[in-house]
Amino acid sequence: MEAYPRLQMIIDGQGIAESAAGMLAVENPATEEIVGMLPCATTEHLDQALESSARAFERWRKMPAEDRGALLSTVAHILIERIAHIAYVLCLEQGKSIKEAEAEVRYAAQVFAYSAEEGKRVYGRIIPARVAGHRQMAFKYPIGPSLGLSPWNFPALVPSRKIATALAAGCSCIIKASEETPGTAMLVVQACHDAGIPPGVVNLVFGDPPTVSEYLMKSHIIRKISFTGSIPVGKHLARLAAERLQRCTLELGGHAPVIVMEDADPEFAARTVAAGKFFRNAGQVCVAPTRFFVHERVYQPFARALADIAGGIKVGDGRESSTEMGPLANARRIEAMERLVDDATRRGASILSGGHRIGETGYFWAPTVLTDVDGNAQIMNEEPFGPLAPVVPFTRLDDVVMEANRLPHGLAAYAFTNSMRHAAHIAEGLDVGVVTFNHVTAAYPETPFGGVKESGDGREGGPEGLEAFLVTRYVSEAVAA
Ligand code: NAD
Repeated sequence: MEAYPRLQMIIDGQGIAESAAGMLAVENPATEEIVGMLPCATTEHLDQALESSARAFERWRKMPAEDRGALLSTVAHILIERIAHIAYVLCLEQGKSIKEAEAEVRYAAQVFAYSAEEGKRVYGRIIPARVAGHRQMAFKYPIGPSLGLSPWNFPALVPSRKIATALAAGCSCIIKASEETPGTAMLVVQACHDAGIPPGVVNLVFGDPPTVSEYLMKSHIIRKISFTGSIPVGKHLARLAAERLQRCTLELGGHAPVIVMEDADPEFAARTVAAGKFFRNAGQVCVAPTRFFVHERVYQPFARALADIAGGIKVGDGRESSTEMGPLANARRIEAMERLVDDATRRGASILSGGHRIGETGYFWAPTVLTDVDGNAQIMNEEPFGPLAPVVPFTRLDDVVMEANRLPHGLAAYAFTNSMRHAAHIAEGLDVGVVTFNHVTAAYPETPFGGVKESGDGREGGPEGLEAFLVTRYVSEAVAA
């Protein structure tokens, strides 16, 4: 296996491995060893990124969608060719198992492949004219150079969504990926260059996130922001974007309710949610199931089954083939798990499984199931972003829908039922952007993904994701006197 790569920013097609602005250490969360050093952008670097993004946009927007699509499709092929190396780098800097990392890279490639096709379907409209001899048309144009800000939990997928969609729409993209997982984003951007996407169409920068985002967003060149991360940072960026009325797509946190009805099979429900809760990135997912509301008639068997699964999960270094759940991505997550479990147990919760850190080196946390959790406990009000599952009984569906909607979050929700009446009630009643029944897959490249309320605004994926990078221009002609 190739080693962790030498980290670089990529601006106007040039790799920049050293910087007067300093270097940041990148840590392996399984061992706490430093795996690489990351250069931070100076203001000169950011100016270069802005200028080259503006220049490249003028060229890229004029390239036929068919040709842009061919290049995006080549990126997808390159990502698949390099999947073993990219997944290894992802595992090393983020912690998830190699198997999971490979699945993420495959998904990232699918996003490029989908965008390659969807970019050819940017249609305008012909509007019947009011005046004889006139023509009225609506054209779609790319909005302009965009800025993508991506977090550490999906280091291949999230940058790929932002880059591929921007490029499919005809926009250029500056991506500031997470400083904690930069190697994977760098390999994605390298794949873009190796596919033949012209220099400057995708630029990659790193640095102090508030300084970099503020500097870039103050420029009149950036017309669109796409951010994935926490609610407080999303609100801050929306305020900055208001200065220049830059359009924003904000994918922020969630606190996904799971409703298990009395007609559902509690063991099937436990097995299915465990896949989304523990095995998937150790619960560090904005759409992870996080508040488990279980009908009192199936509450005990569900909680027991979930605890049994949690207790049997093999936690370890993601590079080990037997590992089912890797470490948490950083020390902040361990501190958050400790605080949330302490608070819940102080308020009377019982720990059915886990509840503690594993070992002293590496950020390993035992998959945790909590019962008798008080509604005021922090975990019932704050996104856990980790492998904690609080299970709470309910009696009436109306009450649980109201409780699910109580929080300012509104991203994903899940329900288990075999009753069409219950499913319709839940789908209508929940104030969220995504709801699934009897499974927990919240997104594909072609489906619209995003939240309501404080979980964000706008959609990624599907035609909706592309539309977010387009503006409409109305054109009218008097063609006959
Ligand atoms: P954080 O709020 O410090 O940072 C979240 C992300 O925003 C990071 O990638 C960070 O680099 C970036 N960021 C921070 N300040 C920024 C700024 N001013 N401009 C641009 N980017 C900025 O939180 P954290 O400790 O990294 O993560 C913890 C919380 O973040 C989680 O509890 C979760 O709610 C949220 N989060 C959500 C997602 C998601 O997929 N929606 C991903 C990662 C983190």
